Amino acid sequence: MNGSAIWLGPDAPERVIAHLGGQGFRVVGPRVEDGVLVLEELTAGDSLPTGWHDRAAPGSYRLERREGNGPRARERFGYRVGAQAWKRYLHPPELRLFTAERAAGGGLDLHPEKGPEAPLALIGVRPCDLTAIAVQDRVLMGGRHVDEAYAARRHGAFLVVVECTTPGATCFCASFGSGPGAEGGFDLALTELIDDERHGFVARAGSARGEALLEALGGRPASAPETDGRRRAVDEAAHAMGRRLDVDGARSALAEGAGLPLWNDVAERCLNCANCTLVCPTCFCVTIEDVTDLSGDVAERRRRWDSCFSLDFSYLHGGSVRRSGAARYRQWLTHKLSSWFEQFGEAGCVGCGRCIAWCPVGIDLTQEAAIAIEQRRQADAMPRGRGPAGRGARR
Ligand code: SF4
Ligand code: SF4
Repeated sequence: MNGSAIWLGPDAPERVIAHLGGQGFRVVGPRVEDGVLVLEELTAGDSLPTGWHDRAAPGSYRLERREGNGPRARERFGYRVGAQAWKRYLHPPELRLFTAERAAGGGLDLHPEKGPEAPLALIGVRPCDLTAIAVQDRVLMGGRHVDEAYAARRHGAFLVVVECTTPGATCFCASFGSGPGAEGGFDLALTELIDDERHGFVARAGSARGEALLEALGGRPASAPETDGRRRAVDEAAHAMGRRLDVDGARSALAEGAGLPLWNDVAERCLNCANCTLVCPTCFCVTIEDVTDLSGDVAERRRRWDSCFSLDFSYLHGGSVRRSGAARYRQWLTHKLSSWFEQFGEAGCVGCGRCIAWCPVGIDLTQEAAIAIEQRRQADAMPRGRGPAGRGARR
């Protein structure tokens, strides 16, 4: 879209919620509940959190209110990402696929689950999460076998992205180019600018629907200082990232990294709790369960999120093919940062940092990737057969 940027006041999120809700969208956005950020359904009149900011570190996440009367106490998007990712709505944690009933004359009547009644509008999507949605689009809709449940939720979804101007300590989206700015793939992009003199949003449309929304919201063309301020804020955020990752180095080190010593070291710390996969916005693995009622006349097939950290997930005939924690962590990290490229042509990580903050023992994939790169370098420098790679990861 080539339309010019528009300046909207600080109540823009509420006006967007009211407008999209009025158009029949099921609007979802951030709320504060029990001290954490959650993504919930919103209706006209609901407000987004104001004056909250988050602090994330390995194994730690805190949501706090800004103290004092400074401009930041009025900030609308002072937080980055909570534990929940948007996949919760596009690729739900649990889904009934169909119900089967024993028919009166024998046989079974099958009742497929109905699709969603209203299209989704996702408000406050961070650029890393926008990229994660594009990653899941390719995985779940980009091949020959389309995931119908995902497609039914994704088609027609209205995406309102909010660019990041203050990255967190666990963020590293700049390493992947998946943030902190957004240049496409959204319907509407908002960038919050706040200081002593001004508070509002530079708004840009990314689709015809976004243009129509901007027209409905009114506003005035953004001034040159405002559009320059937006670009500067995003550039500064890219340089202030809490972490970085050598994407190419990790990809090649992990492709040849099955025998590196780091896997056994991580296995000493990793609890195999699967938190990292459940919070990850790109992880998509599921398992299928069939259940019957007590009469045996009604059965359901359900789908729920699963994880490569569970033993059952890699159970093939006779047992699990990844029996050790070392093998399961190796599979996860190698898939995210290396083999995902072979499968889908890009990384399986967007640098959101959730897996670092929500790992109960603070395992940091940027550190583990750096160790893999260094151990691979050392192994390559040694005579064949004498490198650290010989110690290997237990199965
Ligand atoms: S692997 Fe970690 S940092 Fe990367 S996208 Fe998943 S949760 Fe975010
Ligand atoms: S890396 Fe951390 S979050 Fe992931 S399974 Fe191990 S302990 Fe759990």
